[in-house]
Amino acid sequence: MARTQEELQLDPQDLHFIPMGGSEQFGVNFNLYAYQGKWLAIDLGIGFADHRIPGVDILMPDPAFMEARRHELEGLIVTHAHEDHVGAIPYLWPRLKCPVYCTAFTAAVLKRKIEEHPDSRKMEINVVEPGEIVDLGPFKARFIHVAHSIPQTCAVVIETPEGRVVHSGDWNLDPAPVVDAPTDEAALQDLGQDGVLAYIGDSTNCAVDGRTGSEADAEKGLEEVFATCKGRIVVTTFSSNIGRMQSICKAAEANGRSVTVIGRSMHNMIAAARECGYLGNMRPFVDERDMEDLPADQQVYIVTGSQGEARAALSKISRGDMSSVRLGKGDTVIFSARPIPGNEKEIDTVKNNLVAGGVHVVSPGETPHTIHISGHPCRDEVADMYRWVKPELVIPVHGERMQLEAQADLARKCQIGQVIVPGNGSVIKLKKGASAIIDHIETGILALESGRLIDMDHPAIRERRKLQFTGVVHLTVVLNARGDLVADPELTTIGLIDSEDEDELRLEDDLLDEVSDILGDMERGDLKDDHAVHEELRIGIRRHVNLVLRVKPKTTVHVIRV
Ligand SMILES: [Zn+2]
Repeated sequence: MARTQEELQLDPQDLHFIPMGGSEQFGVNFNLYAYQGKWLAIDLGIGFADHRIPGVDILMPDPAFMEARRHELEGLIVTHAHEDHVGAIPYLWPRLKCPVYCTAFTAAVLKRKIEEHPDSRKMEINVVEPGEIVDLGPFKARFIHVAHSIPQTCAVVIETPEGRVVHSGDWNLDPAPVVDAPTDEAALQDLGQDGVLAYIGDSTNCAVDGRTGSEADAEKGLEEVFATCKGRIVVTTFSSNIGRMQSICKAAEANGRSVTVIGRSMHNMIAAARECGYLGNMRPFVDERDMEDLPADQQVYIVTGSQGEARAALSKISRGDMSSVRLGKGDTVIFSARPIPGNEKEIDTVKNNLVAGGVHVVSPGETPHTIHISGHPCRDEVADMYRWVKPELVIPVHGERMQLEAQADLARKCQIGQVIVPGNGSVIKLKKGASAIIDHIETGILALESGRLIDMDHPAIRERRKLQFTGVVHLTVVLNARGDLVADPELTTIGLIDSEDEDELRLEDDLLDEVSDILGDMERGDLKDDHAVHEELRIGIRRHVNLVLRVKPKTTVHVIRV
């Protein structure tokens, strides 16, 4: 039984960790630490909604718990600029109003984001260098550089008198990243010498054996695939993967091709990267409009839409909706990215459209060439991390239950003394020899609609979900005070029949007959009672539709008295 957020009482002398999002799903990462009556937050990201939440694309953690204690919040540390770690900040910061700490690249991305959110423009963003220590009340936070699929990612070491916690963020052990340095192994080994109470880390690929590999392999693999292509090449990847963008540019250069970039988020990321000194040694991108002047075998397009997003460039290209890029036989589209779980159907739609148009599609795992490298550690890398850090306790986060359990299993195999698998809202006391889940608080997920943020369980969303399966009937009847009909009833159905089809339209006529019958059968006294009329008609209509179509539609009845 989850405790309500107001009821939670913590002993201020103990150090606590509470994952508020991201510890039973991908995305919506939001983690809290509490000590001596003060709080520290790490990451505040978005997630992507699936078909269970119709009309909604973006989800974020409900910050209500932290908002209620925001005067005790010392700061928000952002480990890196991926959407699932940074994306909710522009929306939710006005409810927390704490200083933000991150590396220069993350700051450059965040600053661009808050431009569109006037309430967040007052945000104090503090740029922290890897290795630097920030004093945040009773917490000392040290940033340690780790390799990941976006520049300037950091793990955070939280030092308190109760012990030292390594909060990994997302990372891998790419031995030769093409931008930035490899993960700072020496700093992590030093921590292990000094003693680490808990390692709280990335579970994404903990079910995958071996090692991730290197971005340098992807650069080589892309170059090899490019060499086999005769026509245009379109490559899609995450816009934040600056290293991949550089790999694509180098592969293009090696094959005598020029590169252009399509998609707003990609241009934003490139601007942030250039501001921080990345991509400086690359040949300049060709303007999208000048690309047509080049022969097809000299063109490379880097585009958004690797997750099948309907509004992104690749999806438009696949539908033939982008006049500047028309693909056909002889052209190649390379997916230099993995599907985020849940996006497979949308991606397949895009691939099917492309293949139907004669385009050759290349995806990771379906070619002998390495064209994508994950940003997350596989099992051997996580085992290395345990060996370096030597934690007393491992807490798997960042993943669905399957990935969390896979990391727990690995930690036990690596002889880690204690493993605690949390869920969102688990209140975990971190104490030498006595760590445990001591409580559980309610957590929530907010859904972003165009104009508002609402609870994922908001009645509007619950209703919408039902409507997908049932359809709707609206009925208006006008009665006088005695209960006689004074006008013909008006009836509309939505999502039940083909209104162009004479036969199917009969349902509406039949329903109107049913309305007359029901009113005809009612007692005079009941006909004077709005509620009785309403209920008799509503139930009768649902019963009739269920008899004919085997669905019980959402039915609204308006009774008007004149
Ligand atoms: Zn990430």
